[in-house]
Amino acid sequence: MFGKLLIANRGEIALRIQRACRELGIRTVVVHSEVDADAKYVKLADESVCIGPAPSKESYLNVPAIIAAAEVTDAEAIHPGYGFLSENADFAERVERSGFVFIGPRPESIRLMGDKVSAKHAMIAAAVPTVPGSDGVLPEDPREIVRVARAVGYPVIIKAAGGGGGRGMRVVHTEAALLSAVTMTRQEAQTAFSNPNVYMEKFLENPRHIEIQVLADQYRNAIWLGERDCSMQRRHQKILEEAPAPGIPRKLIERIGDRCAEACRKIDYRGAGTFEFLYENGEFYFIEMNTRVQVEHPVTELVTGIDIVQQQIRVAAGERLTIRQRDVVLRGHAIECRINAEDPYRFTPSPGRITAWHTPGGPGVRVDSHAYAGYVVPPNYDSMIGKLLCYGDTRDQAIARMRIALSEAVVEGISTNIPLHRELMMDEKFVQGGTSIHYLEKRLAEKKANQG
Ligand code: ADP
Repeated sequence: MFGKLLIANRGEIALRIQRACRELGIRTVVVHSEVDADAKYVKLADESVCIGPAPSKESYLNVPAIIAAAEVTDAEAIHPGYGFLSENADFAERVERSGFVFIGPRPESIRLMGDKVSAKHAMIAAAVPTVPGSDGVLPEDPREIVRVARAVGYPVIIKAAGGGGGRGMRVVHTEAALLSAVTMTRQEAQTAFSNPNVYMEKFLENPRHIEIQVLADQYRNAIWLGERDCSMQRRHQKILEEAPAPGIPRKLIERIGDRCAEACRKIDYRGAGTFEFLYENGEFYFIEMNTRVQVEHPVTELVTGIDIVQQQIRVAAGERLTIRQRDVVLRGHAIECRINAEDPYRFTPSPGRITAWHTPGGPGVRVDSHAYAGYVVPPNYDSMIGKLLCYGDTRDQAIARMRIALSEAVVEGISTNIPLHRELMMDEKFVQGGTSIHYLEKRLAEKKANQG
């Protein structure tokens, strides 16, 4: 096992990785920007290195500074967390070439999955079901584009091959709007991702977002750790996740899970990863793979009892997976509410000093957060300040515990989305389970209309 590991991230995930390291007996180095210098997790780490000013480009995305920090502290491995450099194949390559271990898949896997067109091809080859659409990148010839759209059937969605974070997508309902939509998406893709390639998919009208967590070692052992339902989204950003996914037959999920594990073996995948699917009318359609740990990984940890971050570190250190598929037993139900520093209904960011902070507790409650009373939420980064998770023997018990936990939670000085989560826990459709990816936005629009 490694003696020392560098954490190239911030916030709750920097703390989460630190906890995993401490249990494994690994010393930690945290890199941080100037504005994060006083964060609790920076003080808790064995060592810390300031790598630049607040803007991410000059700190958390500053590759030479991160590599230099690993060199001066004699770290052996680098954990990228999520976001920032976590899915940057060039960074992974640079880390390994500099003599450190990258906690994640091989750079080739990141590259393969980072391009949505090559990822889709790989999935088709591995018999993982995908959304019907164009065979790869759309050609230049407008007549050919029109022909493909007719074959797929409207509505269609034009997506950037290099897209991410919910950007670089456009829905097209009619042939009249098709070609200008393709041109605009290409331009946006070029600007945002330096890759003008776009492809076409059937636009699914009312799907759920279901994802499969996988773990693989470098000896082609791969397992899947159940699914998560992340359908509660706004602007393609998840705000609440749960496991297992309510109302989907286990047989269907098992079939998909086994295919995902098989796909990992086929592409020689290593580390933790997530296969994201849209689910509609009893069918799963692969949309993309995330080649890193995800924000919502703890819901899976709660229902499987497996520490995903520790497993990530173990397989990166060259250990074999000791968990076999038959050892993965799902028990109970877990829900995660992402706590964001933002206005709960207008969603404008709310950075600033937290004056009071009381976290809930009791049976089945887990809080993953780096915040505390006196902590100043910087305006420079993502607004998520923590995650509140509740576990129960049943979904109803998990919801009941989440209601209590949310009622106990106190955050003063800044606005948070806790009021929205309180409402969602009482929402009839959520309580029934199985809402689509459009449910939250529809609900918010109705609320606004009623107030106006
Ligand atoms: P990103 O990498 O930007 O997150 P994804 O491919 O994962 O892009 O898509 C993000 C979201 O866009 C999905 O969760 C879903 O809400 C929507 N979406 C993507 N493809 C389709 C599709 N074919 N039909 C309907 N919605 C889609």
